[in-house]
Amino acid sequence: MAGYQHVLDTPIEFLKGVGPVRAELLKKELSIFTFGDLLCHFPFRYLDRTQFTPISQLQPQQQFVQVKGTLGAKQFIGEGRNRRLSAWLHDDSGQLELVWFQGLKWAEKNLTVGATYAAFGRLNFFRGQYSITHPELARLDDGQQASFAGRMQPVYPSTEKLKSRHLDSRGLARLIQTLLEQLKPTDIAEILPSDVLQRHRLLSRYDAFRYIHLPPSEQEGEQARQRFCFEELFLHQVRMARLHRFRHVRQPALMLKRSGDLLQQFYRQNVPFQLTEAQKRVIREIIADMKSGRQMNRLLQGDVGSGKTIVALSAMLAVIGSGGQCALMVPTEVLAYQHFRTITQLTAGLPLRVGLLTASIKGRARQKLLQQLQSGAVHLLVGTHALLEGSVHFHRLGLVVIDEQHRFGVVQRGRLWMHLERPPHVLVMTATPIPRTLALTLYGDLDQSVLDELPPGRQAVVTAHRTDADRLRIFSFLKSQIDQGRQAYVIYPLIEESEKLDFKHLMEGYEAITRAFPLPQYAVSIMHGRMKPDDREYEMQRFVRGETQIMVATTVIEVGVDVPNATVMIIESAERFGLAQLHQLRGRVGRGVHKSYCILITPPRISAEARARISIMTQTNDGFRIAEEDLRLRGPGDLEGTRQSGLMEFRVAHPIRDICWLEKARAEAQRLIAEDPLLQKPQHQALKNFIIKQDQQRGNWIRVS
Ligand code: ADP
Ligand code: MG
Repeated sequence: MAGYQHVLDTPIEFLKGVGPVRAELLKKELSIFTFGDLLCHFPFRYLDRTQFTPISQLQPQQQFVQVKGTLGAKQFIGEGRNRRLSAWLHDDSGQLELVWFQGLKWAEKNLTVGATYAAFGRLNFFRGQYSITHPELARLDDGQQASFAGRMQPVYPSTEKLKSRHLDSRGLARLIQTLLEQLKPTDIAEILPSDVLQRHRLLSRYDAFRYIHLPPSEQEGEQARQRFCFEELFLHQVRMARLHRFRHVRQPALMLKRSGDLLQQFYRQNVPFQLTEAQKRVIREIIADMKSGRQMNRLLQGDVGSGKTIVALSAMLAVIGSGGQCALMVPTEVLAYQHFRTITQLTAGLPLRVGLLTASIKGRARQKLLQQLQSGAVHLLVGTHALLEGSVHFHRLGLVVIDEQHRFGVVQRGRLWMHLERPPHVLVMTATPIPRTLALTLYGDLDQSVLDELPPGRQAVVTAHRTDADRLRIFSFLKSQIDQGRQAYVIYPLIEESEKLDFKHLMEGYEAITRAFPLPQYAVSIMHGRMKPDDREYEMQRFVRGETQIMVATTVIEVGVDVPNATVMIIESAERFGLAQLHQLRGRVGRGVHKSYCILITPPRISAEARARISIMTQTNDGFRIAEEDLRLRGPGDLEGTRQSGLMEFRVAHPIRDICWLEKARAEAQRLIAEDPLLQKPQHQALKNFIIKQDQQRGNWIRVS
């Protein structure tokens, strides 16, 4: 493959068996662009085909079986649509029928009576007779290639579209084998330092790639997985360690002098309640950090409703009091508007200008705001990732607060202040809490504060699981709450893929609710992603002011929305939401003094995993526990879920199951960075180059998305 510096950078279309159509699909469906990407498409499990079962020992309850025997008679049976090919496989102990309903001719042509075959497939048991339909057959007496008989067979994630092009698990396996056959050990350079490899008895990178795709036994497959698990965690930890070190070298943009008159004034005149002890402690931690002379990089964890906003605001007022500006970045426009409103109200009468910047603020208003920001006339800017744009310049940015960090990628975090010579302090807030030890390791570059106390008077939200059949009763309960003056949310899933259908359900639900709660006695709001931000804000405002009693919405309100009078959260098709999402949604109620309720509606039959999620929700309100269960429930194969959580970009490692590897990786990374902070030693060049390359690729990825 001339022209490409490394074989692994070769575009995927140059692999034998790929071609332009498949190449497009591989890119689109699995983000496989190069040989290297394909090599990193790992199986999520293996079928153990090292064992053959004697036919007489087959059991009806067995699922997949593999048998070995001699092919006896073969014949076509039946007519028309019922026509099938039947063949018999014999071993010393008995016989088994092999059946084909499709591709009969081709199958028949390839079956040699008298030859020895391994047959693998799902076992059927009917009228005392065992059979396998459409078996995977491998002839054993002619050394056939690409067969998994007698080995571990990898099972790869694939998609419907890929399957339609014969790129199911087996098709992908074939491509990967083709690739492996043409790779030499020198094509896959080692990136881990050799002492690290030795200390943890890890496979070399080359061996690990071979074994993860074609393990001679289960054990080697696991060793390969462990190698990549370590590698992934180690790279992550090296990045963390470097960030951590780097930040202690740079001077922050602003150092707090005193905690400031502005903050004192705010506490005296504006704060409408007593701060909890936890809030006071965390505010002290933050202020001490910003006074220390180093750049603050702090993660604030606190469950939904624990009162993070006021903590963030206190920190920002301290900074503004010392002559700096602040940015508060949030993941959704709805939340940006809400924070802007809350902060404007909470700081009424204080000498302070608050601005709002989202993608929908355009033209002259935007120009003016940007000017005021640059001149320093606006002190506090609330916004979505519109804040990350190149046109946004601060006069003196002292503190950046990122709310609901789990919605932003780690890379995005850095963007805001990348170009600044002296970085602002950074406070990251998340309401998808993670266990503390895990947080320390995963967010190793951040210091931690935890709000482990809820404001007084909060009661646990009563959570119940109901099915569609209970709808009438649910409506009458809803009515009783609304007639007592309370408000409610009804949430519908809206996930891109099935968007049209979901949208229809949302609208039908909205109509049903408006019929049950008619004007003029009641008013119902609706809010979804297809509405213009202004219209959404208008509806949100009506709901906040209590002019409407029910908010029918999609997950646009998932994070941060704060309407303390709302006491009922109804979640339709709850089985389709993840645990973190359910917990966030439930967190929209129970924010005031009134007893609150969360009703999870599902069809009567749901998957075991969905049932497990719902049962955790009905058992506990504790976000930390839910987070732990969430991580535990999710298998490593669940790419979607892991990506969604924004928590980790790991493909192989599982943060709970692999916690011991996480700790080892952390220790090694710290040792490495202490010894060679800039990765200048020759034995660390491969590692350094790999990290740089990965960062570039991720950067590109962020830019195109
Ligand atoms: P979250 O941590 O989920 O972001 P918020 O900051 O939105 O929580 O606070 C939730 C609600 O609790 C808000 O209505 C807020 O005004 C209120 N709140 C916050 N702190 C206190 C407190 N110390 N006492 C009473 N209410 C509080
Ligand atoms: Mg919040």
